Amino acid sequence: MIHKTRVKKVLCQTVSIIVCCLTLSVCFPGDTSNAAENMVLSTSPADIVQMKSTYTYDEMMEDISELTQAYPNVVSACSIGNTALGRSIPCVSIGNPAAPYRIMVQASIHAREYICTQVVMNMIETYAKRFVTGQNADMYNKVAFDVVPMSNPDGVSIVQFGAASAPNSPATADFINATGNISSWKANAMGVDLNRNFNIGWDAINQGVYTPSYALYKGASACSEAETVALESQAQSYPYAAYISYHMKGNIIYYDEPGNTAQNSALSASVARAIASTSGYKMKNLKSCISATGDVVQGGFTDWAQLALGRPAVTVEIGSNLPPTAQSSANSIYKSNLDTWAAISKLY
Ligand SMILES: [Zn+2]
Repeated sequence: MIHKTRVKKVLCQTVSIIVCCLTLSVCFPGDTSNAAENMVLSTSPADIVQMKSTYTYDEMMEDISELTQAYPNVVSACSIGNTALGRSIPCVSIGNPAAPYRIMVQASIHAREYICTQVVMNMIETYAKRFVTGQNADMYNKVAFDVVPMSNPDGVSIVQFGAASAPNSPATADFINATGNISSWKANAMGVDLNRNFNIGWDAINQGVYTPSYALYKGASACSEAETVALESQAQSYPYAAYISYHMKGNIIYYDEPGNTAQNSALSASVARAIASTSGYKMKNLKSCISATGDVVQGGFTDWAQLALGRPAVTVEIGSNLPPTAQSSANSIYKSNLDTWAAISKLY
């Protein structure tokens, strides 16, 4: 019997549950062919992840704990590192750890785009429900997803709570107040735009911001930030078949990369097509986004995954607005994206 209790937890307690996502395959049956059918819940848990209002870091951590308890055979979680302000960065695995292919997803690397977290957390819950009832069995048997639902928890907390998000760091609170632009904040708590901090094309980035800011500062050096280190480490921990990065806004999928091999260009395009076919989003090849002078801004997660790791990656810009305007559309954004993971799994 599963008793669903909603107990407020201290942040770091939640992710102490499990040491590492990828070591959990021992918990699963070796024969995956009928594993989904064998998983039967004694009760059907009520919905865990809510869609209606602003989704905070604490709510996400609580939901991850509840999801791992409600669906222990298909959902597991780990911490991939800690932010500068000490928040644990969770990774949630959905599916069969013995699946021959894995895909890494990360969301909300840009703070103000925090509805991305709510969307992928709801997707995790729905796929968990489907797997335990035997739906999407092909996906279950072939592809599992490792999802970092909130890559920038300090930044998201700044957008949602301002300087109050840093109660134990007066210097950070002062920096937040002095910088302003709270609702437009994209950076982490150190004022670094994490999607300009990856170790690819970093030296060439020049967007006119040379000190910590709410957006576009690339950092003092490549991979200078704890969140970047954590994401790079997770991305290299497994030979992932593909990488997906969720941003807002535009209802568009950016794929491919200047400098890609022909093979990687084709693989990136195939992932983008799978997402487009089920979401209805447009596709745009990043090779077509090079400026007249040949400049291209890199330093992002998917730039790095494609050029440094040599694997396919796509950036999905969900929705038509940013929060808070986009909050009323969160459920429809989720519905547009829900079946994209199942579609991607058909590529393998
Ligand atoms: Zn973004």
